Amino acid sequence: MDTPSEKFLPARVVERRQIAEDLFVLKVDPGGSFDYKAGQYATLGLERDGKRVERAYSIVSSPYERALEFFIEHVPAGQLTPLLNVLQEDHPVYLRRFAKGRFTLDLKSGHTNHLLLGTVTGVAPYVSYVRTIFQDWKKGGSPMPGEHRLFCVHGSSHAHEFGYRDELEKIAAEAPWFKYVPTISRPWDNPEWHGELGRVDDLVRKYVEVWNLTPADTTAYLCGHPGMVETGRGMLQRAGWKKEHLQFEIYFIPGTPGT
Ligand SMILES: Cc1cc2nc3c(=O)[nH]c(=O)nc-3n(C[C@H](O)[C@H](O)[C@H](O)COP(=O)(O)OP(=O)(O)OC[C@H]3O[C@@H](n4cnc5c(N)ncnc54)[C@H](O)[C@@H]3O)c2cc1C
Repeated sequence: MDTPSEKFLPARVVERRQIAEDLFVLKVDPGGSFDYKAGQYATLGLERDGKRVERAYSIVSSPYERALEFFIEHVPAGQLTPLLNVLQEDHPVYLRRFAKGRFTLDLKSGHTNHLLLGTVTGVAPYVSYVRTIFQDWKKGGSPMPGEHRLFCVHGSSHAHEFGYRDELEKIAAEAPWFKYVPTISRPWDNPEWHGELGRVDDLVRKYVEVWNLTPADTTAYLCGHPGMVETGRGMLQRAGWKKEHLQFEIYFIPGTPGT
């Protein structure tokens, strides 16, 4: 059997931030060299009843940052998140040495528009894209090869659950290549909310039109809740998007523990 040091880095929690009752941000020092591309995920683990439980988490941070950042939903009946939820600063966590995943920005198809659809913690890979490109852009370079533009619709039930709204709104106000629309599905609980309303999948058609996105110039990304991913993909396919221009990351399958 592999010893932890062969497969894992000695990562440690460096910061924990509560976002909502069931949502928190963890920042982790990887404890060694950890390479990744914006949009990839890391595998975190902890011991539970003498066994190691591991789960995948999209990386929020940009590869330019030292700490890895994660936006995590506490699933009370879950194996790992109740343990992650109570971690405090300096607690060790298992971190697989290699990042994984292909949910990275499509720079190969020739498409220059990127429609980013996410539910709650599913915004994580998009924050990583945007932080990375914003940093490049601030240094005076073009955001990416060519003139790429990113359009994000981010859904949650309530206004306090977005996690990265302030940061993304500030970037959108400054960067002409980024648009961010947060939307809530429970306006009756949020009388002070004056922004967009409805679930992400209810808004796909509207924003494809508003932003003038077409299957010929746009790659779409769907991340988070399986229902949104399924419905959103179906709508985009019916609107002419080919499968190869739809990228998706499903966070869980109901009734099935994660891997
Ligand atoms: C590529 C990838 C990236 C991911 N990135 C993130 C991320 O950035 N943030 C994040 O919070 N999660 C992310 N996940 C989900 C994560 O890997 C775990 O599945 C999740 O944290 C639950 O783990 P758990 O051990 O607590 O629950 P489990 O023991 O795995 O699951 C218990 C039960 O809860 C269900 N369940 C799992 N998650 C949810 C949920 N969110 N809502 C409702 N029911 C659920 C399961 O289907 C199962 O029936 C990602 C998953 C994948 C595959």
